[in-house]
Amino acid sequence: MIVGELKPFTEIKKMIRGYQRILVAGCGGCVTVCQTGGLQEAETLARLLNMDDPGTTVESLAVPRQCEWEFLEQLKTTVQRCEIIVSTACGIGVQAMNEYFREIQTLPALNTRFLGMPVEHGVFVERCQACGECMLHLTGGICPVARCSKSLMNGPCGGSKNGRCEISPEIDCAWQLIYERLKALDQLERLLVLQPPKDWSHSRDGGVRKMVREDLMLDDGE
Ligand code: SF4
Ligand code: SF4
Repeated sequence: MIVGELKPFTEIKKMIRGYQRILVAGCGGCVTVCQTGGLQEAETLARLLNMDDPGTTVESLAVPRQCEWEFLEQLKTTVQRCEIIVSTACGIGVQAMNEYFREIQTLPALNTRFLGMPVEHGVFVERCQACGECMLHLTGGICPVARCSKSLMNGPCGGSKNGRCEISPEIDCAWQLIYERLKALDQLERLLVLQPPKDWSHSRDGGVRKMVREDLMLDDGE
């Protein structure tokens, strides 16, 4: 899931200064799970904005996933009544809204943080950097790109202490975890296989990424 956190209220207020008819649009996907941008949070933000400036009209609603245009159709009537949209989705949702509703601007209420998961109530941690070349089958299911502070691909840097990373004692050394996991799986021999440098053209450094699934595409005229 994509993990995001709400921007400071003052920052959101500054963005919408001068607008009177506002729509706060939530997303029923990832940001609902991390409780920062679902319907409940969109409604709360709308109430706060309205309390802060009672002269404004602030509506709120949410769609199942803001990153899919097919769900945005249902917002059309509400959008027509508004001057500005404040989205509590991640950055993908904000951009999907801006591409779909070209006549009106959608502003971000969240800071999109990372791809992660909840490990305990209220604690979310990064687990994937979407590098485009998954190697979890080689590392016991623990991602060294996302979880090693130096994204090392071939074993530890040598700085870990008591299983903790030298960059931050608050996090586990990813390569210690990988070692322990492979040992438990009786697959330590995997560590002897050198991984070549990553082909970063599969990642962000190579530009905007795209995936085409021809089997899902519609024929012309369908
Ligand atoms: S818009 Fe962002 S937060 Fe919402 S479902 Fe899509 S990826 Fe997840
Ligand atoms: S201590 Fe471990 S997690 Fe930290 S940078 Fe070195 S190898 Fe990576």
